[in-house]
Amino acid sequence: MSWVKRILIVLMLFSMIHQVAALEFSKHGLMQFQSDFEQSQQWLDIQLTEHPAPDPTFIDLSLQKAQLYMLFQRADLLEPLLSNLQTLLFELANVDDKSQWLLSQGIQLYLVGKYSEADEQFLLSLQQLDVVAEPQEYLYLKNFILMYQAVNRIYLQRYDDALNDLTEIYKRAEKNNWPIIQARSLVFIGDVNYALKNYEQALEYYQNAYATYPQEALVYRAEAKMYEAQMINVVGDRSEAFSKLDQAIEVFEDLHDQSRLANAFLLKSYFYSKVPDNDNALTWIAKSVGKREQLGNPIDIANAYVHYSSQLATDGQIALALEYGQKAADLAEQHQDISGQWDSYGNYARLLDQAEDYQQAYHYMHLSERALLKKARLDITSQTATLNAQFNLRREQLKSELLDKQAHLFEERNTLLNEQLLMKQQQQQQQTWVLIILSLVLVFFLALCGIIYRLYIKNKVLASRDPLTNLHNRRSIMTLGEQALITSDRYQHAVSVLMLDIDSFKAINDTYGHDMGDRVIQFVADICCATVRKSDFVGRIGGEEFLLILPHTNEEAALLLADRLCQQMTLADKHNIEQVPQVTVSIGIASKNKNSELDYNNQPDKSLGQLIREADTALYSAKERGRDQVQAYHPQITLKGQQVDLEDTMPNVLRNIS
Ligand code: GH3
Ligand code: MG
Ligand code: MG
Repeated sequence: MSWVKRILIVLMLFSMIHQVAALEFSKHGLMQFQSDFEQSQQWLDIQLTEHPAPDPTFIDLSLQKAQLYMLFQRADLLEPLLSNLQTLLFELANVDDKSQWLLSQGIQLYLVGKYSEADEQFLLSLQQLDVVAEPQEYLYLKNFILMYQAVNRIYLQRYDDALNDLTEIYKRAEKNNWPIIQARSLVFIGDVNYALKNYEQALEYYQNAYATYPQEALVYRAEAKMYEAQMINVVGDRSEAFSKLDQAIEVFEDLHDQSRLANAFLLKSYFYSKVPDNDNALTWIAKSVGKREQLGNPIDIANAYVHYSSQLATDGQIALALEYGQKAADLAEQHQDISGQWDSYGNYARLLDQAEDYQQAYHYMHLSERALLKKARLDITSQTATLNAQFNLRREQLKSELLDKQAHLFEERNTLLNEQLLMKQQQQQQQTWVLIILSLVLVFFLALCGIIYRLYIKNKVLASRDPLTNLHNRRSIMTLGEQALITSDRYQHAVSVLMLDIDSFKAINDTYGHDMGDRVIQFVADICCATVRKSDFVGRIGGEEFLLILPHTNEEAALLLADRLCQQMTLADKHNIEQVPQVTVSIGIASKNKNSELDYNNQPDKSLGQLIREADTALYSAKERGRDQVQAYHPQITLKGQQVDLEDTMPNVLRNIS
């Protein structure tokens, strides 16, 4: 394997390890430390001397310091800090602090490549939070721990877990507006893509992360830029990669971020080796070695030595190359780092081979192969896991697409249901209005019918009544007469008809005026009404002529009534017509069925007209005989010029009441 390829693999591992950067345990946490490392450290040291243990703020300040070290990836400083704090912190039962300590411990282990132990610490850290009654308060911290747990699992070959968890964390961060967690999740998802050799996608994730970080996250932004540069060197323009890397280096230098500077120098050396520019490649790897020796992380140092020795050999400095090659192999052996062992043993074997020490070269090559076999076993497992992860990723995508579609369908259904509901409501409203309008129309119609009926009744009464006397008018009395006649025929009752005419009425009119004449007519009408029975009918059929229909009344009874009428004219109170000295009337009577069945049988066809004519004849007879008297009809009556001796023929029938 060429050293360039080797460098690529190691760089990949490096870049992943060094993703572990700043932490913010709370939303308001360590944004302030995204500035100069040394100044921040000094500031915290002063605070700590002012508040030594057992000051309550001591633990808080110490944990802040731990955050600062994690932000600047200082595993070397983190380890003593955490072990000094351990006893004191675990005496206090503060869940939040304990969880933070465990998280810091996990990250420290992660930084030195102890992934299994780191995983345990992350689990413990999460368990601390799980016992809290209100985990909502620690939601941010919890997601932060979950994020580092997920990244760590990439190195435990649990790619699917890592990817699923990171995707979920990203979604939650986006929902809750936690830009740091959001951007860091993007960086880590970029790392998974990088591990799966999806360089272009990885670049996209890094660019997204850069854009998502808040402006003041200087360290993180510079770091994202460095990763961008790394991807651009693979899939893009090398000069752009150089320019971006230099921008990142400038920030790291300003902030005294030694760990990231060491990574950046190694990356720059790699860029130069690709140009190729061996002098510069050697210069920058030497710088990286210097930094890593200062930082003291053995795995980092071993890796830097491998690249340094390889570059020294390219430069022809074999002796020095052998020295660093051996140092790398020894460090890898001490720290049980399989990838590092395979890499450093192989590298050393090639150097020994170049130095013609074949026996040693064979020995180290053998060791390298054994490490490789061990690694291959792990890799096969990890490749399976990678495939699983890819499969799961796709499955997740399909699942979310399906969920989106379902949600869309659900929304559409809801809209439809809502529309239906609205339509139903409108329909109901319309129906209610129609009902109201119909009810109003009905009420109006009924009221109208009532009015019309009352008008009809009034009109009917008016139509049947004489306006001056309120007696039946001619039409009405004729109808009543017809009915009385029909009844009398049916039951063979007697019925009598009286024709009454006021005597010398013309003279009253002429003497006292028309108004007085009218009052006399009313006077006579009142007497008629007061005198007859309730079953009798009185009607005014002419100017001062009245027709009286008397059911169940034979001629004899009719004569009595007529007499009484004539008497009443003189006897009744005349207060309204005082000026008129005397009011008399003449009455003609005609009767049917007047005596018996025999009589009925003799005159079965006598009509009302006939009776009226007979009564009229009798009336004229009474007039002729001198007025103020009653005359019953009988066939022998003769009018003027045909005088009949009534006394002879009809004794008791005609009475002169004057
Ligand atoms: P007689 O005794 O023969 O019946 O004589 P009379 O004057 O009553 O004669 P006649 O019946 O011919 O006259 C009726 C008069 O009544 C004629 C008319 O001017 C008058 N008259 C008819 N209708 C009314 C009315 O409604 N009011 C008044 N004041 N006078 C009326
Ligand atoms: Mg008359
Ligand atoms: Mg008259």
